Amino acid sequence: MIGVLALQGGFIEHIDMLKRLGADSFEIRKEQDIHNKKIDGIILPGGESTVIGKLLKEIGLFDGLKKLIDDGTPVFGTCAGLILLAKKIENDDNVWFNAMDICVKRNAYGRQLGSFNTIADFENIGKVPMTFIRAPYITKAGDNVRVLAKYKDKIIAAEQNNILVTAFHPELTDDLRVHEYFLKKCFK
Ligand code: GLN
Repeated sequence: MIGVLALQGGFIEHIDMLKRLGADSFEIRKEQDIHNKKIDGIILPGGESTVIGKLLKEIGLFDGLKKLIDDGTPVFGTCAGLILLAKKIENDDNVWFNAMDICVKRNAYGRQLGSFNTIADFENIGKVPMTFIRAPYITKAGDNVRVLAKYKDKIIAAEQNNILVTAFHPELTDDLRVHEYFLKKCFK
């Protein structure tokens, strides 16, 4: 079962992608949702990282999720989800899960280029359509981080052990392959 964090932002689209790939999922809304379940993977969706991070703490879900991530449960963060997983946010004092050895810049494409689509190479997959919405990019990645995709020289997808992140939203395209890639991490 894949747990999709469903506090704010674009979680429904992820659940839809998983359905299309034949994977069972459930919504994570409170602490009890992650108790007594066999969780094969977690998706942290896009939205507003500050809002999601604060909500996680307010409702007491943060520590339980952090433990699952630190214990090696596969996790896929898109956009705000990527920001929540980073060890450092360049233009923000917050650090949330502090799990992935990356430094990120929020809203990195500025207001002019707030939202856009492109197609770029994704390692092991090939050319992938990408939708960016007030997206971050990764400004620094540790040696233990594998870069999976770049757009105009900036890292926009990466992986470190159990963690996969994309600055773009594969769930807003028709292409299932990034989710499929994540499911392979969950069910290997
Ligand atoms: N701009 C948002 C943030 O900084 C992320 C945008 C998104 O998830 N689409 O948290």
